[in-house]
Amino acid sequence: MKRVVLLGPPGAGKGTQSIVICGSLGIPQIATGDILRAAVQGKTELGLQAKSFMDNGQLVPDELVIGLMRVRLLELQEKGEDGFLLDGFPRTLAQAEALDGLLQELRMPLTHVVDLKVDESVLLERIRQRSLQGSGRSDDSAEVATERLKVYWADTAPVSGYYRSQGNYHEVDGLGSVEEVSERILKCLGHVF
Ligand code: AMP
Repeated sequence: MKRVVLLGPPGAGKGTQSIVICGSLGIPQIATGDILRAAVQGKTELGLQAKSFMDNGQLVPDELVIGLMRVRLLELQEKGEDGFLLDGFPRTLAQAEALDGLLQELRMPLTHVVDLKVDESVLLERIRQRSLQGSGRSDDSAEVATERLKVYWADTAPVSGYYRSQGNYHEVDGLGSVEEVSERILKCLGHVF
């Protein structure tokens, strides 16, 4: 069974790839960004707390996202589900450490960490295109997207270093068509075509 973390900067294609990979492997996706956006839409307590951070391209405080991840993973285990793919979590070293503790408690260690690598100039161009096309996401304006990229380098890039030293870590080239990239990811997850 695969228990996967998918890492990568904003604009690397994590969301698109997560859906493809989860479909191919038959595992559930847990995307903190999607959960938070739904909470904002539903005006729940979590959503009210998270909204201003998201609108400004900042990270939502660790205790909120760690709390929501805990609930989701417990639900998953209760359902008898053994695999998962985490998209957009962990985004800080504190989240990575909390995840380790949580997965140890649940006896569900990670099997793979996949880090999508995309050149910064390509990311900026993708983000610019996304803001021109209007994705419907309130955090997709060029300014907020640039801020998200800054936050990525400051807070999230160190998470790659955390996993690199732990094993199970795979860097994957994120340049190419959706199919090319998903094939690379599936290969490193040991998927047989
Ligand atoms: P995403 O859809 O993954 O790009 O996430 C959208 C926004 O949700 C981010 O810019 C953050 O404000 C927030 N968010 C999502 N995941 C996390 C996380 N693991 N930690 C903190 N904030 C997060």
